[in-house]
Amino acid sequence: MSKYNRRKYSTENHQSDAAADENYTQGRDRTSNRPPGLKGKEIGLYYRNLAMNKRTGSANHSSKSHSDSRNLKYFSLDPAVEEIIKRSLYNSNHLYDEEKTSSAADDKQLIKNKYNHIRDSEFKRSFLNIISGSIQEKLAKSVSINKKLVSNELIDEKLKDEQKLRESSDDYIKIMNFRKKLPSFQKKEEILDIINSSQVVVISGETGCGKTTQIPQFILDKAIEDGNGSRTKIVCTQPRRISAISVAERIAYERAERLGKSVGYQVRLEKFLCRDYGSIFFCTTGILLQYMQSDPALSDFSHIVLDEIHERTTETDFIITLLKQVIPKRPDLKVILMSATLNAEQFSKYYERCPIIHIPGFTYPVSKFYLEDIIEITRFNFPPPPKLPTNWKKHLKPNKEIMKKNDDFTDFIEPALRQMESDKSYPAYVINQLRNPTSEELSLELIQALLEHISESKKPGAILVFLPGIMDITNLNKNLLGSGRFPSYKFQIYPLHSRLPTVEQKLIFQVPPAGVRKIILATAIAETSITIEDVVYVIDCGKTKLSRFDVNNNIEILKPEWISLANCQQRRGRAGRVQPGECYHLFSKAREMTLDEYPTPEMLRTPLEKIILQVKILLLGRVDVFLGSVIDPPDDKAIKIALNLLRNLNAIDDKENLTPLGYHLARLPLDPRTGKMVLWASMFSCVEPIFAIAASLSFKDAFYCPLNKEQEANDAKKKLGLEQFSDHIALAEALRQFEQGLLNRQAGRFCSDHFLSWNILKLLVEMKQQFAQHLYEMKFLDSSDPSDKRANRNSDNLAVIKAIVCAGLYPNIATVQNGKSFCKLRTVEDGTVKIHPSSINARANQLPTPYITYYLKQKSTAIFLHDTTCITEAALIFATTKCSIRPQGIRWSITLNQSISFVCKQSTAEIIQKLHEEFNKLLEHKISHPEPILWESQEGNILRFVLLSFFCIILLPIQQSF
Ligand code: ADP
Ligand code: MG
Repeated sequence: MSKYNRRKYSTENHQSDAAADENYTQGRDRTSNRPPGLKGKEIGLYYRNLAMNKRTGSANHSSKSHSDSRNLKYFSLDPAVEEIIKRSLYNSNHLYDEEKTSSAADDKQLIKNKYNHIRDSEFKRSFLNIISGSIQEKLAKSVSINKKLVSNELIDEKLKDEQKLRESSDDYIKIMNFRKKLPSFQKKEEILDIINSSQVVVISGETGCGKTTQIPQFILDKAIEDGNGSRTKIVCTQPRRISAISVAERIAYERAERLGKSVGYQVRLEKFLCRDYGSIFFCTTGILLQYMQSDPALSDFSHIVLDEIHERTTETDFIITLLKQVIPKRPDLKVILMSATLNAEQFSKYYERCPIIHIPGFTYPVSKFYLEDIIEITRFNFPPPPKLPTNWKKHLKPNKEIMKKNDDFTDFIEPALRQMESDKSYPAYVINQLRNPTSEELSLELIQALLEHISESKKPGAILVFLPGIMDITNLNKNLLGSGRFPSYKFQIYPLHSRLPTVEQKLIFQVPPAGVRKIILATAIAETSITIEDVVYVIDCGKTKLSRFDVNNNIEILKPEWISLANCQQRRGRAGRVQPGECYHLFSKAREMTLDEYPTPEMLRTPLEKIILQVKILLLGRVDVFLGSVIDPPDDKAIKIALNLLRNLNAIDDKENLTPLGYHLARLPLDPRTGKMVLWASMFSCVEPIFAIAASLSFKDAFYCPLNKEQEANDAKKKLGLEQFSDHIALAEALRQFEQGLLNRQAGRFCSDHFLSWNILKLLVEMKQQFAQHLYEMKFLDSSDPSDKRANRNSDNLAVIKAIVCAGLYPNIATVQNGKSFCKLRTVEDGTVKIHPSSINARANQLPTPYITYYLKQKSTAIFLHDTTCITEAALIFATTKCSIRPQGIRWSITLNQSISFVCKQSTAEIIQKLHEEFNKLLEHKISHPEPILWESQEGNILRFVLLSFFCIILLPIQQSF
């Protein structure tokens, strides 16, 4: 179908757009920048009120109106609009059939009664099943209706024949000769015996020894040989998409087969399923969790192999805990926990000291070089540290982080340097460089110098560079290509990270032609899950990007951190696969002494909202109890914060039960806030811009800021903000223009003009499509095409987009206080906060609205708000969907939360509250009857009226109110 008719977004007071979609308006409404479908007088009212709002709004937003300490503003609704709202409320009644409330016999009945007012539907039944059952009941049921794994002699024989045939094929024999040399092969019988005699085993082994590719095959081949093929299906989880796919492909190749027979995989939105018996099925941990929602006993599988558990991702920790409940109900299920050689003991202990088997590795010796050696080799000079003003101590409050860094430096690095001086183990210039704190920052220039050194002076062999994040990979790649020193006839440079399209990933394994050196720029992904055989040199920057959640301040901190010793060892090991190798660590020996032994489990350093939704959808009972039983339980405070956020989002209720909204959010591969945004976008018909925003927020925005070009980059971003004082609008607009550019071959130019990363934008386009696919499967959209006109009626209405962004981000709101030449921002929890310099709004002297919403609050040198949008009171009222009203003297007050209140006439207060109620009912109805909005029906009318009324709110300075 033709692409959605893309227009430049119009601002809310822009008059008309003749190119509006005829399909859905049937020629009536040709104006796309107001709520669709308004008729006659309603259109006039909409524009008149917008104009009035604009006039009074600017008066209202002057510093004067903010001098009222309680921030009370007078709020009025045009009587004609009130009339329209009343009409819509009256008409909406018949949408929701109320069933008679029966008396509640027990807790379950109580929960069910809560949703009596919602008409029966398939969704309602499955939703009620979910929220009112327990995991034990579900497990029992799931075991009793086991369907696929049954013994079948005919199949067993067929599988045996197939295996014999395979064993005689040349391809198989050839690869078998390689397989036989892997250390895991030496332990084959022992591994099979131990799996046979114990329900749970832990297998640890050096990376590359053949755990992932061999062990599932040992199990399957043995089962086939023993005539048990028909009731054997092995599921093997991987923490990342890329490894699930590449391992499945590798095993199919080793079995001289195509994917889809005895080997298959499934990752988010990509699958190649295998047969239901006699097979090995690879999937991401997330997919297995999804399976467990409908079949918690995993009755389709005979063996479950959890791979890479040492990575301690939240999802694997979660499954390990969950399986403890499954095992007693499925005595025939075998659980195999596989880990690199880190801390295997801990897992065994967690499973009542289940047996451990260790596979010794074979790697060639790897020589280690530290920063001191690298400086000596390259004679690299670090730039001097940034100069602080001489009186900096007066201005800067002591910052814990900087202090800790300084302490570390004085406590560990300095004494080591003095020792080096006295030993004379290194020349003075090396020690001087190490004394410069900049030497501990990531330097792409140093990496380039080292790459040049290895390429010029060392024997052939691929070089693997570990970098903290995708952006560093992109930048280094660009630098290398731009330097002219790595011409393509002599070098193949590959980025390797989890966001890479799968096709590109395969090239990385190929050995280049003679005379060409392969350089792989990778994230931590190349540490354990992907083995590239021909690597001889490893450059380890020593850092990885980690986000940490600071529970005391309810703030997320994302920054490159030193890796643990265990990670260093893994990285080093990558160099010794085929011959003795070399590993260059870009940190000093002294720094190594400060590193932790193991990495911190993800569950202890990231917010818990997403995993709590999983606990709820899997009926695992009280969140604090379940999370208290994981291998390293998270902080109680972190659990409380996450539960609060979910309650605020209306994803769970006061009793910790999942709401219909929470149910959908649990099924979306997004954090709950961006999940809410995309759900609302599908209902309010503005999916293109909101999907773009959600993709950028949940992955990465595409803006970059080259050194010394900050001003230009800021200006370019600002242009894309369409004067909306919104980073989110800039994100949406960047992607919109990029996609338009792709059609007319201007995308490259557009990217370079606007300091945007082509690669990231391409990934965002892909993610947008994934969201559409999900929402289509969930029945909220008519099609899986994010550009479908039917899903984009309001996509040009910037006011609606900003309001939906606000609804998703609420309660992330700061209040704005405009001064003469600056503005001050405050949040209730933190007091004064600042807008991060990368935001469009950072340099504004005055902001046009009294509130600003933000995606992330991060603490570094100050508390910074990232990705901000200025929002009006109306958008806030729209976003909160809950308010309390009460008389206040001769007026009434409407309170949205503890810091945001308005005053108005009694009738207005009552109407707003009623409107919120009705709007919530509509949302609840829609969320519980997933189907696209029927804009030409009653429900469409309600949404239109909701938009109309919220955007026709008139705010007056309080003194003009009566
Ligand atoms: P482990 O899981 O123990 O880290 P794997 O089973 O992934 O080890 O890999 C075993 C060996 O198989 C690797 O050392 C490598 O030689 C080879 N191998 C694995 N995947 C591939 C691939 N996609 N292409 C080529 N060789 C591979
Ligand atoms: Mg592996």
